[in-house]
Amino acid sequence: MTRPVNLILLGPPGAGKGTQARMLEERFGLVQLSTGDLLRGAVAAATPAGLAAKAVMEAGELVSDEIVLAVLKERLAQPDVGKGVILDGFPRTEAQAEALDALMDETGGKIDCVISLEVEDDAMVARVSGRYTCAGCGEGYHDEFKQPATAGVCDQCQSTEFSRRADDNAETVRTRLEAYHTQTAPLISYYRGRGTLVGVPAMADIDQIAKDLGKVVSGLMRG
Ligand code: AMP
Repeated sequence: MTRPVNLILLGPPGAGKGTQARMLEERFGLVQLSTGDLLRGAVAAATPAGLAAKAVMEAGELVSDEIVLAVLKERLAQPDVGKGVILDGFPRTEAQAEALDALMDETGGKIDCVISLEVEDDAMVARVSGRYTCAGCGEGYHDEFKQPATAGVCDQCQSTEFSRRADDNAETVRTRLEAYHTQTAPLISYYRGRGTLVGVPAMADIDQIAKDLGKVVSGLMRG
């Protein structure tokens, strides 16, 4: 018997939250819920939230809790979240963590586990600066660490279109790392205090980290 679980992935930009969330989604049927992706969608669609968030995101700073919570709540209202979610990039501040607690109380849901991906900052600038995504299916690649088997063709969907995020440049990554350390890293002790924190070393290769995370998630699903 398995049950749906709700997870939070914590870690600085470049820790591999998005990559690992996609792998967990595929393996366990959980739903990846990235506030960064939701906000980029809002920017692309030029919604009022997107228009307000665009410049803040390009500068590598945090978007206001009000906007982030609004896009998150809208997404959480969709029925597929009943399969269990992997929150990727949320919460990022203590106020957001408290808002999430309140939301869980309201909906009768619960965060089963908070996984902190443990990495070294020095490696993050190179990891983030070289990354790009398939425009067709969203598969992630990296100039140095993960190239498609055939150059210029996505392994998953054979698309030849790729995109790079506007905020994935060395200067903005440094601002994002600083935002992580000042505003988000305190959440590690917040969740440790609640007994839901698990630390997973995340400097190894992608498949090894996926195996380690898989063990944590299968354990949770078995209850
Ligand atoms: P990410 O895709 O998680 O790296 O997020 C990209 C950018 O979106 C961040 O640098 C922030 O500007 C914004 N963002 C994403 N999630 C949040 C959040 N939970 N709170 C505030 N800003 C966020």
